[in-house]
Order: sequence, then structure tokens, then C-alpha cells
Amino acid sequence: MALAPASDVIVHRTFERDPDDDRPRLECGVVGVWGQPDASAVAALALHALQHRGQEACGITSFGEGRFHNERHLGHVGDAFSGPNLLQRLPGSSAIGHTRYSTAGGAGMRNIQPMFADLRTGGIALGHNGNLTNFMALREMLVEEGAIFQSTSDSEVILHLIAHSKKRKIVDRFIDALSQIEGGYALVGLTNKKLIGARDPLGIRPLVLGRLGDAWVLASETCALDMIGAKFERDIQHGEIVIIDEKGVRSLRPFPAARARPCVFEYVYFSRPDSVVNGRSVYDVRKRMGAQLASEHPREADVIVPVPDSGVPAALGYAQASGLPFEMGIIRSHYLGRTFIQPSQGVRELGVRMKHSPNRAVLSGKRVVLIDDSIVRGTTSVKLVRAVREAGAAEVHLLSASPPIMWPDFYGIDMPERSQLIAANHTLEEMRARLEVDTLGFLSVDGLYQAIGVGPRNAALPQLTDHYFTGDYPTRLIDHERRMSGERSADKQLSLLASA
Ligand code: AMP
Repeated sequence: MALAPASDVIVHRTFERDPDDDRPRLECGVVGVWGQPDASAVAALALHALQHRGQEACGITSFGEGRFHNERHLGHVGDAFSGPNLLQRLPGSSAIGHTRYSTAGGAGMRNIQPMFADLRTGGIALGHNGNLTNFMALREMLVEEGAIFQSTSDSEVILHLIAHSKKRKIVDRFIDALSQIEGGYALVGLTNKKLIGARDPLGIRPLVLGRLGDAWVLASETCALDMIGAKFERDIQHGEIVIIDEKGVRSLRPFPAARARPCVFEYVYFSRPDSVVNGRSVYDVRKRMGAQLASEHPREADVIVPVPDSGVPAALGYAQASGLPFEMGIIRSHYLGRTFIQPSQGVRELGVRMKHSPNRAVLSGKRVVLIDDSIVRGTTSVKLVRAVREAGAAEVHLLSASPPIMWPDFYGIDMPERSQLIAANHTLEEMRARLEVDTLGFLSVDGLYQAIGVGPRNAALPQLTDHYFTGDYPTRLIDHERRMSGERSADKQLSLLASA
């Protein structure tokens, strides 16, 4: 085949996604800063550390000089908030920030957070990580009551509920709003006087509190605290609301006591390995997932090769437990930014590998154990397995450091629907054949629980939110059930709006 002419190469300068990367995307990250003269600069740095949680858009709202300031941009934090000019437009000693990948509502400017509303009681800005499972039901109710929505994001529902509350004080309005929502959420809110943080009743989404000198910081993950040199104070508890103001930090538990069920996928994939989530080092957990995988699926092999970056700790754990050498048999390009050269179909058919390249020196003639943290649709694996074979591997054994993903998510993690999940639609042997590997293995659910340090799984009272693997959803799925039963068409209205 002839190479496509130069004009066949299109340079994209939008935030469009890398066409070679058809994996599902992440959710969002939130930060809040209180009592720091450069609050917005601190928030921007902290958001940098949370970039892995969402790369589509980011925003910061500060309060200073008697009013709110809001900057929201498409793209990465480093691009949006580089240089002093932008941050000068965000004065004040308190700020919240958000980095977004859309899991509800479309992409686009109007869905970028923090969102802001002017209420009778004063302004409030809100940043939200997670998904509400009764978003559509609430939205419909609010629209019927006359609410006019500016966005298609579920986060705006929370603002409307706060606005509609009959309570007088902002904190009571906030609680009133939270008592009506269901799902997984970590929220940061900013008023002229307070920074508010909240975590859903099961603690599905994470949120931590840190101290930076006399200032307070809220963040989705501890890696954001490390980035700015803040000291980790504690996790915000499941169902807890913290109010931070000049009097210090106040903790409220307004909802009926529930058992915590944090999300297992924060450990499997989402959180950065240097974060400590719910008291456990993500890196250590991932290494233990690899060690556990070695005991459940031993292989006669020459090298253990991770799918970088997310498979690295598990592959290290496997290598150390099995005594087999760990090698970087796949090299990942870290330069696929927002601006990239999108090959035309013609060039792509030549086998352009933008993200991962096989390292022939490691793979040639070897029996390879390839380890990834998870297999979702199988698209990444199939490409990599072919590349590894083309580089001369004698055998390819694919292992997933998490169990087969069988069920979609409704709590803020972008997972494809069930029909696209390879494990939901194929037997192990069918998957092995499709992925073109010599053997295929998955970590067991109990093995994953052991690696996290809470195992084995208690079937009657599961310790974690783990529906991906078990189908056991920890909350009602009101919108989903309505959709299944064909009730109402608000979804349709919304998608019309999204494409408008
Ligand atoms: P797939 O190609 O669909 O099988 O996706 C598997 C790959 O996607 C693995 O390399 C995972 O590290 C990664 N992954 C798993 N879950 C997610 C997610 N929710 N968002 C982005 N990437 C993911």
C-alpha cells in the first residue's frame, strides 16, 4: 500500500481524543482551598495532580475582593492555568477547582465545573466528582417546578435543589439537597464565607482533608496534597459533610448511619499509585493484586511485562512473587497531548501505534506474561498482543489484575455499556481466542479483596462497591430502572439538548 500524501495528515488543535485510544475515560477530580492568600494558584497545582481523573476540561472558582471569580476552560490544567495572568483573574483566599471528564451530560463549555448559582442567601459554587443515580428523576421534577437548566450535567441538579430548599441557612440548604440525591459523589462547595466538602453516604467516591500551614485543603486524592506540600489530615468519612470557615473545621453527619462501601475501582485503576485511598496505599494494593495473581495464575514464562502505566505495579508484584524477571516490553509514549497528528484511515491501516510500542529487545523469542490492571472491551489487549507477537514473542499469556468486568457503572466511572464488555458477552475460552493469547487469566474477586486488605468478600455485607465484577449495586438505580421500564423520555430531551 502506498503511503498517504502529506495532505492526508490532519493536525488537530482541539481537545478531541486520541483516535488510537478508544479506552473508556476517567471521571473527575475536585479540590478546595481555604485560608491561603494564593488560593487559586494552590488549587491549580492540586488540580495538576488530579489530571488523570479527567482531561476534558477544568475550572477554578475563587472568592476574593468581595465577589466570586470563575475561570473554566476546555483541555488540560497545565494549558488552561499556566502563566500568572489567568490566576490573577482569580483573587482571594478561598477557591475550589475541578477537572472533568464527562460521565453525565455532554462535553462542552456549559458543563464545565465549578458551576455557580446566585441564591437569595448569596452565591455558591460547586464542584462534583461522581454520578447521581436519580439525576433524571430530579431534573424532571425541577423542570416541572419551573427550573431553567443551563447545562446537561447532573451536578447542576444539586445547585437547583439547594436553590429550591426552604431552609434559611446555606448549610441546611446543602444538607436538604444532599438528602434528595442518590449515587456516588464527592463535592466541594464555596460560598463567600465557607468551604464545604461532602462525601456520599457509602463513601463510593473519595475525598480527603489536608492542612497547608494555617490553610485547609480538600482533594479527591492525597497525591494532590503531596503536590502542594500539604499534610494529610484525614479522609472525609462516608456520609460526612465538613464546613470550613474562620472558626475552623466542623463535621456533620446528617444522614442515617450506613456502612462504608468505597469503590474498588479507585484501587484497580483510577487513583494515582502514590495516593493513599481510605487508608491504603494504592501502589501497595496494586502490587499485592499482582502477587495474588501470581498465586492464582502461575505461568512458565521468561518475562513479566506490564501494560504501562496502569499495569506496572501489578506486574512488579507478580514478578517479585514469582521470581520471574520484570521487563519493560512495551514502551508508552507520554507525548500524546491535546494536539496530535491524526493519521488518515489510509495511514492508520499501516498499523500506526501512537500510544504503545513493543520493545523487541525484551520480547523476541520470549515466553511473555502480559499484565494489565483490567480488561474492559478488550480493544487495548488485542492490539498489544498482536504487537508483542509481531515483536517475536514465542508465547503470550495475558493476565488481568482484576476480575472480569461484567457490569457497567453508574457512580461516575466511565464504563461502556454491557453489550461492549468483553467478559459480559464471552466465555473465558472465547475471550482467549478473541484476544489471540496462549492463556488468559483474571484475578478472583476474593483475591482482589485480599489484596485491598479487606478480604475475603462478605457476600451478605460486601465491604466494597464492586458491581463491576459482581452486579451487586450498592444503591437504587432509579434513572436506570425508569429507562429500562421505558418510563418517560427525559433522556431523549436531554440528548436533543446535548447535540443542539
Ligand atoms: P479495553 O481496551 O476496553 O479492554 O480497556 C482496558 C484498558 O483500559 C486497561 O489498560 C485499563 O488500564 C484501562 N481502563 C480500565 N477502566 C478504565 C476507565 N474507566 N477509564 C479509562 N481507562 C480504563
